[in-house]
Amino acid sequence: MRYILSLDEGTTSARAALYNREGHRLAMASVPIPCRYPQPGWVEQDAAQIWTAQLDAMRRTLAEIDAQPQEIAAVGITNQRETTVVWDRRTGAPIAPAIVWQCRRTAERCRTLAASAEAARVTAKTGLVIDAYFSGSKVEWILDHTPGARERAAAGDLLFGNIDTWLIWNLTAGSTHVTDPTNASRTMLMDLATGDWDDELLALFGIPRAMLPRIVPSSGICGQMAATVLGVEIPIAGIAGDQQAALAGQACFRPGLSKNTYGTGCFALLHTGGERPVSRHRLLGTRAANLGGGAQFAVEGSIFIAGAAVQWLRDKVGLIESAPETEQIAQSVAHTGGVYLVPAFVGLGAPHWDAEARASLTGMTLSTGRAELVRATLESMAYQTRELVQAMEADSGAPLEELRVDGGAAQNNFLMQFQADMLGCPVVRPRDSETTALGAAYLAGLAVGYWSSVEEVESFWQAERVFTPSMAAAEREALWAGWQAAVARTRSQGC
Ligand code: ADP
Repeated sequence: MRYILSLDEGTTSARAALYNREGHRLAMASVPIPCRYPQPGWVEQDAAQIWTAQLDAMRRTLAEIDAQPQEIAAVGITNQRETTVVWDRRTGAPIAPAIVWQCRRTAERCRTLAASAEAARVTAKTGLVIDAYFSGSKVEWILDHTPGARERAAAGDLLFGNIDTWLIWNLTAGSTHVTDPTNASRTMLMDLATGDWDDELLALFGIPRAMLPRIVPSSGICGQMAATVLGVEIPIAGIAGDQQAALAGQACFRPGLSKNTYGTGCFALLHTGGERPVSRHRLLGTRAANLGGGAQFAVEGSIFIAGAAVQWLRDKVGLIESAPETEQIAQSVAHTGGVYLVPAFVGLGAPHWDAEARASLTGMTLSTGRAELVRATLESMAYQTRELVQAMEADSGAPLEELRVDGGAAQNNFLMQFQADMLGCPVVRPRDSETTALGAAYLAGLAVGYWSSVEEVESFWQAERVFTPSMAAAEREALWAGWQAAVARTRSQGC
């Protein structure tokens, strides 16, 4: 067996990658997936399109190096989390568009729930802040707004899954309906401590247990890819939500290690080992991938819009032609001149959790031009990350020693340097920044003995570049104060 195959279904694209025993990526292909925005704040995708894009990416990856399916030891799956699909158990057809994690359509419902008597118990059980981000209210919405869905769900005809579950269901020709604790911990339906679906939470959202996938370990054989897909059966042996997969791909398997991913959104995770975290600063308690032993936990800060703001500059404002060019444009000016973009396009995530806030651009003068706006957009990712890191430090009582980074926008050297300056600690970018796909490969490879131990995969991690802070403290804090004022102006009333 020569390879591990990783399927990485992100928000903007489905990717696949092949790895060898040294943990080197030999091939990778990507197929874009469109999003629809049918109403302000709503975000949808077509689940059938996600599946075909993933198949396409997988086939292209194999073709890139002429890899034979029988040479693949195992498959690992990683996915955009929380995105919700409900489908018919018999036909396999989705009954509604997939509701994407960023979608705010259930914000009102979540606000009511957050103000209710149950709120404290929901948060205590799940580790989550009550927000439209998580799957529970999205499943409820589909059941409430699709004619006949409640009856079909009660009769056991409908299945729910996040994208991991949806892909595995299709890869196994409808024979396997599973998820793992990292994905399940984002549904608001799982008890974080026990790792099982919780009847009280299910009742709260009116979701029958029969709709839910079985929760299996993140690393372990959970099914076989059907021979109809690639011609041979291949074990599916790893599952993790994208951010937890990235944590594994950054070799953060031990308490105290942390990473930040700069993709569509930004997600900082700090591994807390076997100890369930309780955040006092509005971060989330979540599951980290379990490697066969007991439950593993992490504390997480989630920012909804990071690289997506760069996409917005490109696609809606037309200020840039491509994301990478933002690096040079930002560097062409020494500062933004007091301009701040607070990218609350779909509200604000951690630590504010303000679903009603909307993006703002403040501090402009007649000398503000394209470069300042581009720079302010990049800087907004670094400021938002500092908010998360400060909350983590306040929770743990220990300063962050370094931040391991990955994701599309981590390739931006201006942003990474500004990030190190804003945090006052080193920012370390690994050689292979496709850590999400890599993490899923590790989980699958460890499960089938392709790699022998966690220590072995830890030894693969190598830094490509370290960004060390160089900004004077006074300048840093002045910029930071400006950001905080801009956020205060952006927050919705009453918060
Ligand atoms: P996802 O997995 O969420 O689909 P990726 O990790 O592929 O996202 O990152 C893509 C995001 O990063 C896009 O939103 C894009 O605008 C942004 N991005 C990609 N390259 C750069 C860059 N060089 N500078 C700034 N932003 C970038």
